[in-house]
Amino acid sequence: MKEKKIDAVEVWKELDALAPRLGLSVIDRTVYLHLLRLTHVEGRRRLRFSILGIAPHLGLSGGPVREAVRRLLEKGALRLIERSNMGHVVEVRLPGEVRVPGGSGAGSRDKLLGGANLDKVDFLRSGALRRAIHAREGGVCFYCMRHTPSRAHCLDHVVPLMEGGSNSYRNLVSCCMGCNSEKRVQAAADFLRQLYREGRLSKEDLSARLLAVQALAAGKFRPQVFGGENAGSEGGTKHKRAREGATPLPPRPRV
Ligand SMILES: [Zn+2]
Repeated sequence: MKEKKIDAVEVWKELDALAPRLGLSVIDRTVYLHLLRLTHVEGRRRLRFSILGIAPHLGLSGGPVREAVRRLLEKGALRLIERSNMGHVVEVRLPGEVRVPGGSGAGSRDKLLGGANLDKVDFLRSGALRRAIHAREGGVCFYCMRHTPSRAHCLDHVVPLMEGGSNSYRNLVSCCMGCNSEKRVQAAADFLRQLYREGRLSKEDLSARLLAVQALAAGKFRPQVFGGENAGSEGGTKHKRAREGATPLPPRPRV
C-alpha cells in the first residue's frame, strides 16, 4: 500500500528532537536518515535491504552499519519484519512515531540525566563521562569518519581550551589519534576542509561534518550518561537526584 508522502522538514525537526533522547550516535542517525529516505520519502514504510548493500552508499563498512541497525531496532526506530540470507525486511518508523523509553516524551530522560545541568558537566572529570562521549560517536572518528577502535581513540576539544573551549559535551568529540594530533589548535571547520582537500572526506561528508560541528555546539548531540556517574553539576548532585527520586539509567545493552 502506498503511504502518504511525508513533510520532510517536519521529519527532520522530529529527528533532531528524538536523536539525543534516544542517544543516537552520528552513525545511527546517518543510517536512520538513509532508511527514511528509502522508505517514507518514496511513499512506503517497509524496506528489504542488506547491510552490505547500503553501507557503500553511506561511505561506511558493514560493521558500523550493522551495529547501527541493531541499535535502531532496539530503540524502536525500526521494526524487524523478517531477517534471512536475503537481508532484513523492516518497517521504518518516522521519528515522531518512536516511543522514547522511560517516559511519555520530551524531558523524561533529560530529567534523569540532570536536565539543564548536563551543560555544566566537565566530561573529562571521570572515566564514565569520557566513555559517554566515545559511545556517542559510536566508534567513529568525529572528523575523518574512519572506524576507530577503542584502543586508538581519544577525546578532542573542538574549540581548544586556549581559545576558550570547555570540557562540555558540546565541545568534546571522540576522534582518531591522527586527527587529534593533526588538528592541534585549528578551528574544526578549517581542519575538516583540510581533510577534504587531502581527499580524506568527500564533498558530501564535508558538508555533513560541518553541520555536525554546528549541531554539536548547539547541544544536539547529548551523550547518554549511565548510573555509574551522576551527570549533574560538580558536587552534591548525586544526592540531589536521590532526593528527587530519580533512578539511574540502566546500562545500555551490548549490541
Ligand atoms: Zn580521524
